[in-house]
Amino acid sequence: MAITVGVFALQGDVREHVRTLGALGVAAVPVRRTSELDACDGLVIPGGESTTMAKLARVFDLFEPIRQRIKEGMPAFGTCAGMIMLADRIEDGSRDQETLGGLDVTVRRNAFGRQVDSFEGDVDFVGLDAPVHAIFIRAPWVEGVGTGVDVLARVEHGEAAGRIVAVRQGPLMATSFHPEVGGDARVHRLFLDLVHES
Ligand code: GLN
Repeated sequence: MAITVGVFALQGDVREHVRTLGALGVAAVPVRRTSELDACDGLVIPGGESTTMAKLARVFDLFEPIRQRIKEGMPAFGTCAGMIMLADRIEDGSRDQETLGGLDVTVRRNAFGRQVDSFEGDVDFVGLDAPVHAIFIRAPWVEGVGTGVDVLARVEHGEAAGRIVAVRQGPLMATSFHPEVGGDARVHRLFLDLVHES
């Protein structure tokens, strides 16, 4: 069956996700309103700025509908700011920063910032044979995970070695880095597997 995957499109690097999903042969549609959300079998929440995303989702009446779909089991994949949006708990959020939630994790915003703002590195990724070249841009990391959460990737080198940067819980997946940048569609393909399964 053909699937449609939405990309939350009120803020963030929407185009990169649409392109990556398109290259995998699925219909990828920007989502700015509930009618567009309703047509989706899964949703990607891009990188960008999580505080702005949360506010705009409220203003455009998308916040509760997305939250509801996630509760009902819609597969969702968040990258960077999108990871923050999917986290049940955040550290170093702005005052009263809201998240959609769904992932039983604590995510620290701008976690690498104290050492280095943005960097790249290879990470081993559960389910993939060869490492992923990961691009981190003012990225969060996962500070702690609940019992139902699988860790998919960790930072391998440097001061942050061991920090969790990719997770999965049921139909929800999130990465601290940006697999939508750089032309490697393997992480998106893993997400599409979740959409097909559900
Ligand atoms: N620092 C951003 C935030 O808190 C995330 C950065 C990104 O998505 N590249 O939302």
